[in-house]
Amino acid sequence: MNEKIVEDIIKKVMKQLDNTAIAPVDSNNCEAIPVELSARHAHLSQKDALELFGGPLTFDRELSQPGQFLCKERIRLIGPKGVIDNVAILGPSRDLSQVEISKTDARMLGTKTPVRQSGDIKGTPGIILASRKGIVGLEEGLIVAGRHIHMTTCDALQMGVCDKDMVSVHIDGERPAVLEDVLIRTNDSFKLSMHIDLDEGNGSGWNKNVSGKIVAKSKETDGGLYIH
Ligand SMILES: [Zn+2]
Repeated sequence: MNEKIVEDIIKKVMKQLDNTAIAPVDSNNCEAIPVELSARHAHLSQKDALELFGGPLTFDRELSQPGQFLCKERIRLIGPKGVIDNVAILGPSRDLSQVEISKTDARMLGTKTPVRQSGDIKGTPGIILASRKGIVGLEEGLIVAGRHIHMTTCDALQMGVCDKDMVSVHIDGERPAVLEDVLIRTNDSFKLSMHIDLDEGNGSGWNKNVSGKIVAKSKETDGGLYIH
């Protein structure tokens, strides 16, 4: 094999490696991201809310993301193996009902619940929702919400990330951890905040002063797939 061929092969391999490696992020550009815990909750369609409560949902208090609010109503989740009571409902109502639980909840309910991003419910398990006034059987919509960061496009620019990027985030809790596969979600109405669930919060020793820092970003490969 002559030198030229060897050199070409090395160049090719180096290029491939470069395409699939984790891209380090200059963490000096990344400000501390407040980390919030998402407790189990449901989003209801207008139709399902009507069926369960006989009317529209009632506002209780605003949540950290603008436009999102906690409702006064609560529901019971009924799974094949267990029941969870007093589950919060978040407004406003959506086109399709969706219930977000932790993996621990899924064990209690007896459902095989996949990790999905909010809204991506096709093919997910169903669940029975009950109130004092009504009962609704969802065909699908039970998910363990994928961890994500809400930010504005300005925040994203500053941190060198884009909408739908997957990043790794260091969490400075009592049990510090790096969480991979964190989805970036940008919208100019968002307030900078990372959302993790109860299992992830307990796993990293979360408290309300905990913050996250983006430490690595997945690169988009030629096939458009994220590698990390
Ligand atoms: Zn969120």
